Amino acid sequence: KWMIWHHELVLRSDVRVSPDDRGYVFGDGIYEVFRVYDGRIFEPEAHFERLIRTAEGTKLTLPYDTASIQRRLEELLDREGVRDGTIYLQITRGEAPRAHPFPAGAEPNLMAYCKELARPSEAMSRGISAVTLDDIRWLRCDLKTLNLLPNVLAKQEAVERGADDAIWHRSGTVTECSASNVMMVKDGIVRTHPANHLILHGITRAVVLRLAKRLEVPVREEAFTLEELASADELFGTGTTIEVMPIVGVDGRPVGNGQPGPVTRKLQQAFEEEIAALRRR
Ligand code: PMP
Repeated sequence: KWMIWHHELVLRSDVRVSPDDRGYVFGDGIYEVFRVYDGRIFEPEAHFERLIRTAEGTKLTLPYDTASIQRRLEELLDREGVRDGTIYLQITRGEAPRAHPFPAGAEPNLMAYCKELARPSEAMSRGISAVTLDDIRWLRCDLKTLNLLPNVLAKQEAVERGADDAIWHRSGTVTECSASNVMMVKDGIVRTHPANHLILHGITRAVVLRLAKRLEVPVREEAFTLEELASADELFGTGTTIEVMPIVGVDGRPVGNGQPGPVTRKLQQAFEEEIAALRRR
């Protein structure tokens, strides 16, 4: 029931959002989703670095320094007693009568809340299904902004077609999923789209690439096509809430033998050890 509004811990029922908030009328804002394991924030530095990059890319001035935002988030976790869950943090360009140019003198609005969320253990062991869709987004997908309508529409189409998620491609080149990054495995080599302007630079993606390196699993940050995907031995998504998620079916056809593969399992296990290390810290 507690959340952060501006820089204070307040009761959720006391928060009033203005109809003039630019996040509300323009989607003019940015956000982060942090993973919490055993009451501790996972990879906080990487999330705050990305928040700063997104703020720069959208010319939004962060209202507080990231160290003090992190301290507030930790207070919130304590107050709410969240052990395994997520924190949603959002900053909008503030309140002003509706007009496109940046308003003079408007203060950014920061809000954050946390919630308990179990790890998706069952889906991680079984795997999920996906459909492929045209990536119709703009050319700054590296910025984590509130404009998620393409993501919402893609996820909804996946659900309506009986699948769990959507894999996007631009003219046949696979980019990412609607709320995660995607990696394929062929002949023991992991491939994933390079971290440029066409994908979100996932924190989980970076962790998994680091783990792959440590395990001496060869990785190529090179885009792959839908045809290559069709011949993949393994496929998995990476994301803050889905961790390392096997994708065992695409467009109604099995990936490899239709089971989570050995490289995916190995990376899942290594990710598990990262979480265990965080718990011990
Ligand atoms: N791509 C998109 C489009 C996303 O929304 C997300 C966030 N869920 C990701 C990738 C994965 O990023 P992260 O590992 O930082 O959660």
